[in-house]
Amino acid sequence: MQSDNCNLCGNCNELSTLCRVFKRETLGPRLKAALAKQDKKEKIFFTDLLEGSVKWCCPAKLDIDEDVLEMRSQMTADGLQPGFCKEILENFKEHGNPVGAARKDRNYKPYFG
Ligand code: SF4
Repeated sequence: MQSDNCNLCGNCNELSTLCRVFKRETLGPRLKAALAKQDKKEKIFFTDLLEGSVKWCCPAKLDIDEDVLEMRSQMTADGLQPGFCKEILENFKEHGNPVGAARKDRNYKPYFG
């Protein structure tokens, strides 16, 4: 894992969109790196935007997005993904899209044509 070489300096939080917009360090890549280092499977991995900003500002050129994807993969295999992810996967299997079947009680207006 890339996180094994992370010293938790926090530089990556500076460019993280989630940290900057919500002003919460707990949404940033440093926490995800710390959790991945300890192999702690937390739902916070599913909030990451995978924007690729870490490798630009990390002094060690680590790509924490790779670890986030790996943790998501492991958690999904273990059935530990958040409920909304399970729902999206089921919708893809059953309906071929992430939102599921159109509700019959709704009057959908076409956006085009
Ligand atoms: S990923 Fe890089 S920038 Fe972020 S905390 Fe670890 S060493 Fe620092």
